[in-house]
Amino acid sequence: MSHLPPVSAPASPPMSILMYHQIGLYPRPDAHRALFCHIDRFRSQLRYLKLMGFEVLSLAQAHACLFEGQPLPKRSVVITVDDGYDDFREHAWPALQEFGCSATVYLVSDLIGKTASWLTDWPHQPQLMDAAAVRQLKREGCDFGSHAVTHPRLSMLSAAEQRREIFDSKKALEDVLGAPVPDFCYPYGDYSLRARDLVQEAGYRTATTCIRGAANLSDNPFELTRKAISYGDNVLGFAFKLHAKQARKGQAAVPDRIAS
Ligand SMILES: [Zn+2]
Repeated sequence: MSHLPPVSAPASPPMSILMYHQIGLYPRPDAHRALFCHIDRFRSQLRYLKLMGFEVLSLAQAHACLFEGQPLPKRSVVITVDDGYDDFREHAWPALQEFGCSATVYLVSDLIGKTASWLTDWPHQPQLMDAAAVRQLKREGCDFGSHAVTHPRLSMLSAAEQRREIFDSKKALEDVLGAPVPDFCYPYGDYSLRARDLVQEAGYRTATTCIRGAANLSDNPFELTRKAISYGDNVLGFAFKLHAKQARKGQAAVPDRIAS
């Protein structure tokens, strides 16, 4: 597969892929602040995007702009939400609909309808959406991607286990949705070059990382950079992140811990 080079940074405004986790009614958390966003702040952020003329693109549209030569809107963002927490339906989705914004939610295929069991140090592991909820949101226009089968650190797995996580989650989610699942997100942002190549081999179109940076500086659709929006981001902090032409920052591909 060949990819056109990304739109060069100086000639275009930054295009950001925003990363959220839990969006809802949360008191100020003591820890893991990057994993929470209060719904009131989320709504302010969506309002800001609209006021400032940002187009909220789907990952398909973003891919077309970044890698297929489509013109990049003057101001644009993509909204991604990791893990598929059940309260997305109650809080974030109605707000997204109200503001006419698309979003992609990444699901852990073996944990649909269960709890976020990988959060082993949390006193209460939050509930994840079940298949009926996922199908309902799909009908209402929400996009879904894969966040692997069990939310592992891929680089710590053997090649066979990595393949299973990447390929089997795609198949399982396509069965749930009755539609293609072209987008992948590396759990914990942890990936190796082998995992990246398996994502491409499995037939995904994009994969998102936790590398910080404007997405139009990404040179590979399987290593898309994102900007995490966390509990502390009021609308000023949000605006700063949005407009910052951040260079790539953070953990890129790591070596596999198991040779084969
Ligand atoms: Zn995750």
